[in-house]
Amino acid sequence: MKLDILAFGAHPDDVELSCSGTIINEIKKGKLAGIVDLTRGELGTRGTAAIRDEEAAKAATIMGLSVRENLNMADGFFELSEANKLAVVKMIRKYRPEVVFANAFDDRHPDHGRGSKMVSDACFLSGLVKVETILNNEKQTAWRPKVIYHYIQDRYFKPDFIVDISDSMDQRILALKSICIPIL
Ligand SMILES: [Zn+2]
Repeated sequence: MKLDILAFGAHPDDVELSCSGTIINEIKKGKLAGIVDLTRGELGTRGTAAIRDEEAAKAATIMGLSVRENLNMADGFFELSEANKLAVVKMIRKYRPEVVFANAFDDRHPDHGRGSKMVSDACFLSGLVKVETILNNEKQTAWRPKVIYHYIQDRYFKPDFIVDISDSMDQRILALKSICIPIL
């Protein structure tokens, strides 16, 4: 399945908290969107990884996502390793999005900055034909998204553009209600 938008979050609530309104806007226009979470958020103060899986699935349904996957990296401790970058490359090549959303460059939670760098690097690497990846026994083809947008979460930074999500606000609030309000 080819997606228009693929949003990555270090934790399974980053995307909902930061840019779910924008994604819902685009889905309403007929675009196909998905979320890939890097970790299961197992270090979150409230709840467990299993609860977060359920919440993430619920939020995905409310938002109208076509797919939601989790790469099961170590919450709090994942590294910018070759293996982790290739895991992200595989997702980019699997869904061939035009637009990628990623965490903020620098944020309160250190995973957000590292996640941001991981996804940016992977978007570049994914376009290199000599970076070989295999998924389900099939060699993947290179794919580079047209653009990466970094969303604001905890720390403010001056946005390059803003999106009017008034028409998607109710749906966004429903999606947020289905996830834990995090204390990270
Ligand atoms: Zn987070």
